[in-house]
Amino acid sequence: MTAHELVIEGLHAGVDGREILRGVDLTVRSGEVHAVMGPNGSGKSTLSHVLAGKPGYHVTAGSVTLDGVDLLALAPWERAHAGLFLAMQYPVEVPGVSLIDALSESMVASGRSVDGLLEAIRAEAASIGFDERFLDRPLNVDLSGGEKKRNETVQLGILDPAIAVLDEIDSGLDVDALRDVSRRIEAMTSEEGLGVLVITHYNRVLHELHPDRVHVLSRGRIAAEGGPELALELETTGYAGYAEEPEPAATPPAGLFDPFALP
Ligand code: ADP
Ligand code: MG
Repeated sequence: MTAHELVIEGLHAGVDGREILRGVDLTVRSGEVHAVMGPNGSGKSTLSHVLAGKPGYHVTAGSVTLDGVDLLALAPWERAHAGLFLAMQYPVEVPGVSLIDALSESMVASGRSVDGLLEAIRAEAASIGFDERFLDRPLNVDLSGGEKKRNETVQLGILDPAIAVLDEIDSGLDVDALRDVSRRIEAMTSEEGLGVLVITHYNRVLHELHPDRVHVLSRGRIAAEGGPELALELETTGYAGYAEEPEPAATPPAGLFDPFALP
């Protein structure tokens, strides 16, 4: 088992000239589960979008490397090739392409054999209670939240990445799906050395997918770090003490009547 390392250093990034991430430092190694938590608007999804290379997000300082390779210089598909797997909060629907098609293409693109792929996909699906009839249906089209996450977990199991970033994997997931998906991810972590970065607003997922380290994001910075006990603490205290990002105040254009203006 090779050891891998995702290193985020001094990451500053934003959208439309507005800075959202203001210096994020985080290292995820093989076999570790890290959780990034934080109030709404703290920049969690921005972090996953920047890691994914989503258009429109601009990195203004800092670096992200996987085993020393500069991920920020790579196109999204090249990042996957380098060993990064990203599960988005809202997976895209791909009409006309099935999970089997998508996985075959990915394996071929990364120069791997597709021998026995179908059997491997079936075994992955069975291990998390994902019905076989979804395997050759269009990717994510008309799937429930739980089915989409099971679908992503099958991809994760087959693609066998070095590091997986999971954004709000618990959104729309029923308890059974959450447990199945978490068990499979934990098995990959302990048996195959997968490194995991879970990004979540809710503590719920962390009862199933046990983090080694918890990082609290607040206003685009890591404001606190600790072990699993930090997640439990947040469960009782909430994010009080970690400010939410204030919405920028709308200023009426000069000359217009402002009904809320102080006299
Ligand atoms: P979280 O996932 O922690 O709730 P986000 O990363 O989605 O936070 O958002 C952080 C801040 O950045 C919020 O204030 C949000 O309004 C702003 N933001 C996120 N995406 C965009 C965007 N595409 N355009 C403008 N502002 C954005
Ligand atoms: Mg979010």
